[in-house]
Amino acid sequence: MVDDFKIDPWGGSAIEEEDYTRLIKKFGIEEISESLRQKMIENRFIRRKIIFGHRDLGLIFKAIEKGQPWAVMSGIKPSGPFHLGTSTTALEIVEFQKMGGKAYYGIADIESWEDNGIPWEEAEITAVDNLADILALGLDPSPEKAYIWRQSLEPKVKDICFKVSRLVTQNMLKAIYGERTFGLYISSLVQVGDIILPQVREGPQPTLVPVGIDQDPHIRLTRDLTRRNYKKFFLPGATYHYLLAGIDGSEKMAKRHPNSYFTFNESLESIEKKVKGALTGGRKNLKEQKELGGEPQKCMIYKILMYHFEEDDEKLAKDFEMCVKGELMCGDHKQECVEKVLKFIKSHKKKKEKLIDKARSLLNID
Ligand code: SF4
Repeated sequence: MVDDFKIDPWGGSAIEEEDYTRLIKKFGIEEISESLRQKMIENRFIRRKIIFGHRDLGLIFKAIEKGQPWAVMSGIKPSGPFHLGTSTTALEIVEFQKMGGKAYYGIADIESWEDNGIPWEEAEITAVDNLADILALGLDPSPEKAYIWRQSLEPKVKDICFKVSRLVTQNMLKAIYGERTFGLYISSLVQVGDIILPQVREGPQPTLVPVGIDQDPHIRLTRDLTRRNYKKFFLPGATYHYLLAGIDGSEKMAKRHPNSYFTFNESLESIEKKVKGALTGGRKNLKEQKELGGEPQKCMIYKILMYHFEEDDEKLAKDFEMCVKGELMCGDHKQECVEKVLKFIKSHKKKKEKLIDKARSLLNID
């Protein structure tokens, strides 16, 4: 169980099921009501209940209904290639962009320096790779639909950071993040700049930040500083998704557990091996599986398919039911998952290759 005040937005907190309920209550995150879910049903993450909570998602719905502008903001810390965990927020921003939000996508290179000691020149190489990934996943970079920036090169983000800092004390940051370096404290204020940027550039409008619950400290800080510094702005809203645990059964996806995730740049052989080694919710043997049924809610194969690789909702629901009834066997289902993942990765790599130049030009790199 995690300490309420130590949800670590930089450490990839391992959050257990009961923590979600406690965190929702403690920090005032709203659960997605059935009526709101129905209103936003076209969003796959909301429909599948991967997004379980929100702040001010209703304002986004109202803006959609009235045809008013709204923004969806996300980003990536360029410290490594896309993997199953980082691609969740990327896919969410793509989904919200399709619903009409202007996508703001920030390359958090200040954070990759402060958190991981990666110099900006090195981060630039990873940023190009990451940006090509999200373009291949469907982000439309046309200027009327998206704005993409690097923290280190965006003066408005730095201006916001300086402006809001005046009202921030060390104690305030310590209460939210615990004892941290000033570098990380500064990078949290730079993130405030990232999140407020859409309204600074284009005027007050609802803004949505899709995140895992471990990023909530940044959202709470940003809302507080928006309230105190930008009276006419909307408080930035957020959606919260369940974090994917390590596919091998580790509590989280982490470099020190190399089988807990796969990146989109890995060889097909390596990915196949990792998916085949994923933790399932299956029973000890076939006899028990048929008698007792499996536990898809605990199964990483099911989650991999649900989060990323199964397009068809009905098929997902049917597989769930068949698993519970003992009519679906893990070996067959794993093989199906492996085939879907490999098919996706092959096509993704081809698309991405063609988008590297586009990514370089969007980041103004010669
Ligand atoms: S049958 Fe499929 S969903 Fe059920 S436990 Fe096995 S792999 Fe998971």
